Amino acid sequence: MHKKKLILFIVIAVALVGVWCLLSRDGRYGAKRAGEHLSVVTSGYVPYALAKEIGAEKIHLTMLVPPGTEPHHFEPTPGSVIAVNEADVFVYISPRVEPWVSDILKGLGSVRALEAGPSEKEEDPHVWMTPYGALSMAERIADALIKADPSNAAYYRENLKKFEKETELLHRDFAEGLKNCKSRAVVHVGHLAFGALAQAYGLELRSLSGTSHQGEHSVRKLADLIRFIRKNKVSAVFTEPFVSPELAQTVARETRVRVFPLYTVEEVGTEDFQSGKTYEGFMRQNLENLREGLQCPLR
Ligand SMILES: [Zn+2]
Repeated sequence: MHKKKLILFIVIAVALVGVWCLLSRDGRYGAKRAGEHLSVVTSGYVPYALAKEIGAEKIHLTMLVPPGTEPHHFEPTPGSVIAVNEADVFVYISPRVEPWVSDILKGLGSVRALEAGPSEKEEDPHVWMTPYGALSMAERIADALIKADPSNAAYYRENLKKFEKETELLHRDFAEGLKNCKSRAVVHVGHLAFGALAQAYGLELRSLSGTSHQGEHSVRKLADLIRFIRKNKVSAVFTEPFVSPELAQTVARETRVRVFPLYTVEEVGTEDFQSGKTYEGFMRQNLENLREGLQCPLR
């Protein structure tokens, strides 16, 4: 979609919301009524999965990026703008990860908007790829929910505490599980989403492209990766299940290595979305695949 067209869409959508509000002065479509669930809209699956942990039964949760859709270059529709304007809380990661959020933020009225993601100084903005990075996002989300809905503060705090316990266990299992590996080279045929994870657990990351999903898949870079695999006798490559699986297949064919998926949690398949796959669920699968690919026996 062209930028002009998008802006026009947003202007129309904001006008529609205005009319909508005028027509519903009884508050039917407006702010939260007593006894009603807090309405939370998230950009994509990372804040969705985390908000679900904290808000659980007390919030009505929806996300803008549909399941199976690439999150960095999503194009919001007028419906996205309306959904955000009707929410009590809008949680997104950061315009660094979701440039399209900036346009939505321009037209916001009284909605409480929370940027839950990384600070500017983070080199790899995919901070939730370490358990403690995800916890700090969950803490910010809990804060926002408590401010928007103080009557359920104890409930949100309790859920945050549970998530904290899960985080400790998850971190321990990553640290233990990746301690003794035959290889520490994570060759990733995808975008640079595992920098923080690699750094936290002492792995060496080689990614095909930069921190967003598009461009940069040059033939030269692919050839570099293949050379690296051969030279260092790497026995597995990791791929993003939703992004160019054929590229990973090409590398695997050339080098006869095995292919394992790594999940960024940014994207979620329809089935996983419907079954409510948790952040922890994705991360445990990542750990299992890393351990198999890098050959890390448990002692
Ligand atoms: Zn990403």
